[in-house]
This record gives sequence, C-alpha cells and structure tokens, in this order.
Amino acid sequence: ETLGQNLRRTVERYPEGEALVVVSQGYRATYRELWDTTTQVAKGLLAMGVEKGDRVGLWSPNRFEWVVTQYATARIGAILVNLNPAYRTAELEYSLNQSGTSVLLLSKGFRQTDYKSMLEEVRPRCPELRVALVLDEDWELLLSNAKHVSGHTLEAREASLQFDDPINIQYTSGTTGFPKGATLSHHNVLNNGYFIGEALKYGPADRVCIPVPFYHCFGMVIGNLACTSHGSTMVIPGEAFEPLAVLQAVQAERCTSLYGVPTMFIAELDHPRFGEFDFSTLRTGVMAGSPCPVEVMKQVQSKMNMREVTICYGMTETSPVSTQSSLDDPLDKRVSTVGRVHPHLEVKVVHAETGEVVPRGTAGELCTRGYSVMLGYWANEEATAKAVDRAGWMHTGDLATMDADGYVRIVGRIKDLIIRGGENISPREVEEFLHTHPGVSEAQVIGVPSVKYGEEVMAWVKAKPGVSLTTEELTKHCTGRIASFKIPRYWKLVDAFPMTVTGKVQKFRMREVSVAELG
Ligand code: ATP
Ligand code: MG
Repeated sequence: ETLGQNLRRTVERYPEGEALVVVSQGYRATYRELWDTTTQVAKGLLAMGVEKGDRVGLWSPNRFEWVVTQYATARIGAILVNLNPAYRTAELEYSLNQSGTSVLLLSKGFRQTDYKSMLEEVRPRCPELRVALVLDEDWELLLSNAKHVSGHTLEAREASLQFDDPINIQYTSGTTGFPKGATLSHHNVLNNGYFIGEALKYGPADRVCIPVPFYHCFGMVIGNLACTSHGSTMVIPGEAFEPLAVLQAVQAERCTSLYGVPTMFIAELDHPRFGEFDFSTLRTGVMAGSPCPVEVMKQVQSKMNMREVTICYGMTETSPVSTQSSLDDPLDKRVSTVGRVHPHLEVKVVHAETGEVVPRGTAGELCTRGYSVMLGYWANEEATAKAVDRAGWMHTGDLATMDADGYVRIVGRIKDLIIRGGENISPREVEEFLHTHPGVSEAQVIGVPSVKYGEEVMAWVKAKPGVSLTTEELTKHCTGRIASFKIPRYWKLVDAFPMTVTGKVQKFRMREVSVAELG
C-alpha cells in the first residue's frame, strides 16, 4: 500500500472525522477536507512538472501545510526531503545539494530567522534547485495551479507507484554530529506508523497532541502516520515546542494522547502554571528520542493522568520504532524499559567486536532487522554499508540489554560510554540516579578527558524552579549510594543544555564546552 491509498481508505471510513487541528494557525480540517487539499497540492506540484522520484524539500516548522505536503508528495511519487527548521545556510546548502532537491517549499522563517534571505544567499550554489515557493505567500498559487491538471493525470501517476518506492529523505537529529539523510519508502514508514497506532490502541476518538517536529520521524511517523492510519485527530499546538501551549492544547482540544522527548515532559511538569490544567481526557502517549528517566515517566503517569504512557525506542534509519512497551505491560516494565520488539521486526543484542549475540542481561550493541530498515543513506553507499550489514541488520550504535522476557533497556549510546581507569560507566545510570534527588529537574552526564584516568565523570545539572543546589549537596547525595568511581568529579549547574530541534541534548557540544572550561 502507498501513503495515498492508506489515507484514501481512512477518508472513506471517517470522512467527517477531524483529521488535523493546528492551534497556532486556527486551522481545522476533517479527513475529507485534508484529502481534498492534498489532491489540489498534488496537482499543483504536477503542474510544476514534478516527476516521480524528484526531490521536493520542505523547510518549515509545524504547520498544516507540512501534513498536506507530506501526502501530496507521496501521492505523486516525489521524494520529500525533510529539512530541519534549525538549519542555517551551510546546512541548508549541504542538504539541498546532497539530496538534489529541485523544488523547495519553505516557510518565511522560524524563531527570528529569515529563511528567505538564507535561501537567497545559498541559491547561486544550488544548481539543481529550480523553484522555491514560500508557504505564507505562494500557497494559494500552488492550489490554483491545480486547475491545469486533470483528475485523470493525478490518478495515472498514483497508479504507477510501488509500495517500496522511496518517498522520503529524513535527516537524523544531529545528536552526535552532522545529520544523515535516511531514504525511506511508503512500506517503511506506513507500516511503522500503523503498528505504533495499534500498540497505542488508536481509533477515531483519539486526539493526539504532537508538539514534536514534523521534519523528524517522531512527528511524521509516530505522529501523523499513526493517526491517519487509524482515523485519529492530530493536534498541533504550535510551530515549535512551548510548554504552556502544549498544556493549553491538551486541555482545550481534549487530547487523549501526548507526545514528547523527556526534556519536553520535564518542561511541562516544571511549568509554574502546571497545576491549573485538567488532564482528565489524557489516557496514553509516547516518550521517546533519548533515555527516558524512570522518575519522569512515573510523574507523567501520575500527574498527567497518562495511565497508559509508553516508551518507544527507535531511530530515523528504522522508520523509526523497533521496540515499544505495550499498554498491557506491568507499570515497572513500562517506565523502566523500552518494551519489546514490534510486530514483524527482529532485534538482537550483540558483542560490539565479535558480533555474537550476548547472554540475556548483558549489555551489547542493539541491532534491528525487518521491513522498517531504511533503503539506505541517500547517495552514500559507504555509510549505508557501515550501518546495515549484509544480512540486513541495522547496527544502531546504542548499547542495550534484553531480559529473559524480551524487554529491552537502553543503556546509552556506545559513543557516550565513559571509560574511567578501565571501568565502564554508563552516563545513563548516573543520570537516573541524579534524577532521584528531589531538587534536580534534569541531569546529563558526560566523560571529560583526564590525564590520570583517561576520562572522568562530569554532570551538568539543572535545578527545579525555585531550588538552589550546590555541588557539595549533590556530591553528598551520591556518596554511599553509588560506587565512588561513578560519582561525578566535575559538576556544572546550568539553566539549559545544548539541544537539537528535536529536543535532544547534544553531548558532543557539552563535551566541547566542558573541555574548554576545564582547560
Ligand atoms: P544522529 O544520528 O544525527 O547523531 P540521533 O541518533 O539522535 O542523531 P535520531 O534518529 O533522531 O537521531 O535518534 C535515534 C537515537 O535516539 C537512537 O539511536 C537512540 O540513541 C536514541 N533514542 C531513541 N529513542 C530512545 C529511547 N526510548 N531511549 C533511549 N534512547 C533513545
Ligand atoms: Mg543516530
């Protein structure tokens, strides 16, 4: 099945069901309306001569036009290139050229940046870029161009598509360095979205609050595709994450499900107006993207009424989800593991050097295989061959353990593992412990170079609002409770962490700053 065929089925079942609400734009559409707009934009793109396989870039924060364009491009077999809203000129130029984007749809800007002037600057160096349309200015033109294209032309194009055609180049978050473009097919993302929706028991009565960016798989697959494949409503609070807007949207739109990376949930829980909001409609939701502290999961469950909250684990390269806790799992498994393997996928934990499967309970590299594994990194066979082995296993670069019942725990990223005087220290474990301090809002742990030990543990800590923490107090909290070699040697009290637009902490930037400061 293609994305278009799947959406059509949902439209036939729930034509008057609400499909999309974008609070910041005052936009509301039923499934029938979403379909009709998508048809017009698909025709508008055909009128511009977009061929099957052409790359259409989309550089915009969360807006209704994003969802429409996602389906319109899929319906004409174009490859949507998701451009990160935080890109600046160098990254924009790189991605446009690397993907060979010929048509670009862009919004005017995002967080005080002006996309149009950035584009003007790089355009002379992007020879393949033919057309650039500004959503805020040219959308009507795109819609009106539809009249030059017959329904038959669109249908003929749709009939020529295959389920395993590439439809998307999704860039990774850039948590560990420069983002990589994963090429994904209808089959990859549609099935993953479907199984996520099944796991969350979505139906037409569900209203899912999506504050995570669409450019990323969390927004466009766990969000949009899980919803559209189940006739659920997508509720978008605004262009970018803002905790108050999320709390307001959940209440006003009577959401049943809420998404976020851990830092987003922390910001909501810590918000001074948190206590004013009614969460009685919430039932479920997804925390994902980076290690989900058990404490935060427990608070979300008890204070936000998300009784059936789950953790998803995955990566852009695997469309993204490969393990997820089930709503029926016991609470302790749901808050402390990333659940079990998704239907029709395989996961294994292997020894990083030998590649042998390690015994249950032992940490090793997590590998995923099945329908969800990307077609490859776009135009980068070398990187693809490094990531996906000949037998089809995606090597995730994440350290994990699997217990006897198949529940997976993420220990951390292999790259972030701290080796101090021969002891392996999982930053994740220290972070989990620091979160048990009542004054700690968020803790992030890294390794910094040490002449004596190779590496030393450093913690960056953000205090809860109104709490003042001292490093003495934090050290005291650790002493006698965790092994002394794991106790951070260095501390930094911060108000914020270096972050990607997807809300992930960039530890490589924390290390850069710390190394410069420690000298
Ligand atoms: P880049 O590959 O550009 O450095 P990234 O890996 O963060 O960035 P994504 O594809 O967005 O890009 O994220 C996938 C990664 O996020 C996983 O490899 C894993 O490290 C982390 N992750 C995702 N979900 C979870 C989770 N539930 N628990 C712990 N880590 C998670
Ligand atoms: Mg990655």
